[in-house]
Amino acid sequence: MTARVIRGGLVFDADKDDFVAMDVLVEDGLIAGLGPDLVAEQSLDATGMYVTPGLIDLHCHIFNHPLYNNSRLDADRIGVSQGVTCLIDTGSAGPLMIDAFKEFVIDRQQTAAFALCNIGSPGLPGLTGGHSSTPELVSLAGTVKAIERNPEWILGVKVLASSSHTGLLGIEAVKIGRKAAELTNTPLMVHLGNAPPLVEEVLDLLRPGDIVTHAYHGKVGGVLGYGGIVIPEFKAAVARGVIVDIAHGRSSFSFDTCEQALQQGMPVHTISSDLHRGNIDRYVVSLARTMTKFRTLGMTLAQVVRATTVTPAAALGLGQHGFGKIEIGQAANISVFRETSEQRELEDSEGEVRLSNCWIEPVHAMVRGRLYDAEANI
Ligand SMILES: [Zn+2]
Repeated sequence: MTARVIRGGLVFDADKDDFVAMDVLVEDGLIAGLGPDLVAEQSLDATGMYVTPGLIDLHCHIFNHPLYNNSRLDADRIGVSQGVTCLIDTGSAGPLMIDAFKEFVIDRQQTAAFALCNIGSPGLPGLTGGHSSTPELVSLAGTVKAIERNPEWILGVKVLASSSHTGLLGIEAVKIGRKAAELTNTPLMVHLGNAPPLVEEVLDLLRPGDIVTHAYHGKVGGVLGYGGIVIPEFKAAVARGVIVDIAHGRSSFSFDTCEQALQQGMPVHTISSDLHRGNIDRYVVSLARTMTKFRTLGMTLAQVVRATTVTPAAALGLGQHGFGKIEIGQAANISVFRETSEQRELEDSEGEVRLSNCWIEPVHAMVRGRLYDAEANI
């Protein structure tokens, strides 16, 4: 592979939590130099653009298998084509089907792809309309063995703590997920949804490093209690190191809820899309658009970049795969985007529309040194 310099951009410096004007030299798939006025055979003009560690979408659905319905998004469509370098499929497949993720996703796509294993054997095929994690379909042993078979790319356990998915199994589903995570020494990601189980009992089971996803949905019985006050169990979970993930989705992100949580000092640790076939054309569309929503809620660009690079990389141990940092000697996983002052309408999952104060526009994604152009207008 020839050498290429990404020239004239503002590079995210995770240690300074700021952007620094410098060039990035990429050679043989690795970052080979950082600094002013670097020269190489090929160059990419990034003047006026931000150059960041490769964007990571911590929650999406890319299990492009013919038996799967909503989860069947082509990884590259929401990955490199949208300026995103790394996607985590969160529980589209359970122990019964997850081995096929390598053949149907990892081996066919240019975007780096990893998975969390659903404790429900089929995962989320979305064909039957039934519950995918009822007692007869949940498998603790199957989940543990699936992770042990595929430690390179299954990075944790996914539980949908919602009656929409687990029926009346309630908190037992979360306990089984917690146990599977313990037995494999991986993090547990819990989807917050409709009770049962109650959000309080779910949060009490989470340990430092576990991830609560769909954290700021607008449904009854979420982060906000009576009078719009953040429930104490949520504050306690954050204080002991539970990671707060957005996972926008079709029904799981409310501007209002998120704004109230932020005003009460709650964090947004990771910004993810929950993209699947049911929300890519409306509501979510892209990770970049989801990032823009958090700029509109008042987060700085550095905070938004941290929440899509450094923090998700740390949450799932992706540093060993070259994600989360732009550093000499690391794999060249890089995103390049610009932020314009364009004001456009943004819609949350509740149908509330706000006017953006800027617009994040992906330009390129680089995965292990290979460069891809992002589609315009996403
Ligand atoms: Zn999801």
